[in-house]
Amino acid sequence: MKIGGLKKTSLIDFPGRLSCIVFVQGCNLRCPFCHNPELVLPEKFLPPLDAGEIMAFLEKRKKYLEGVVITGGEPCIEGEGLLSFAKTLKNIGYLVKIDTNGTFPDIIRKAIEQKVVDYLAMDVKGPAEKYELVSGVKTNMADIEESISLIKNSGVEYEFKTTVVKELLRIDDFEKIGGLIKDAKLHYLQRFIPSKVVDPKSFSYHTYSDEEFETIRRIMLKYVRECHVR
Ligand code: SF4
Repeated sequence: MKIGGLKKTSLIDFPGRLSCIVFVQGCNLRCPFCHNPELVLPEKFLPPLDAGEIMAFLEKRKKYLEGVVITGGEPCIEGEGLLSFAKTLKNIGYLVKIDTNGTFPDIIRKAIEQKVVDYLAMDVKGPAEKYELVSGVKTNMADIEESISLIKNSGVEYEFKTTVVKELLRIDDFEKIGGLIKDAKLHYLQRFIPSKVVDPKSFSYHTYSDEEFETIRRIMLKYVRECHVR
C-alpha cells in the first residue's frame, strides 16, 4: 500500500468510533473540486510513508483506538494490497472503514465477502450523464451501479455521499442521483468548500444556500431513508 498520510486521531470520520485515518496515495478519478490534490496528482506526491512504521503505530494504539478509516485518494486502486491491509487491521482487532469512489466493484465485493470491512462510504458523484463532468474522467456507470448494489445489500454499515457544487449539479439532478441509490439507508450532501483543489478553476465554484440544500434534501428523501447535510 502506498500510504501518503496518517491522521492519528479522529472523532468524526468513522461514525461513533474513535479512529485514525490512513490516506492512500493515488486515484483514478480527477474530480475538479477534490481537496486532496497531493493524494491524486502524481506530480504532487510526497514519498510514501514507511509501511512498517505505520503498522507499529497501529499495533501500539490499539488500546486507545477502535477503528481505522482507509481513505485517499482511492483505496481500491491498491487491489489485493488493500484487502490484505484491511485483514491485518481486523486481526489486530480494529474496525475498518473504507471510503471509495465506487469504480472498483470487484474489490468492494471481495472486501465484503472476506469480512475485512465494517463500514463502507461511497461517493455518488452525480447523475449518469454528468459522471464524466463531475469526476473529471470517463467513468463506467455499470461499475458504479454494481458498487451501489453491492454496498446496499452487503449487511455492512454504509453511507453514500455527494459533494454539492452548484456549477456542476443542478437541483433537479438530485432526482436522478436519488434514483441511482434508491432505497438506500443513508445519504450525505456535502457542502463544497474551496480550499486545495485538483483543478484551479474550482476556486470559482460555489455551493447552494441552506434553503436550497433543504430543497435538495427533500428531493433525496423521496428515494432514501435518511439524508443529512454536512
Ligand atoms: S474526490 Fe475524486 S479525485 Fe479526489 S480522491 Fe475522491 S474520487 Fe479521487
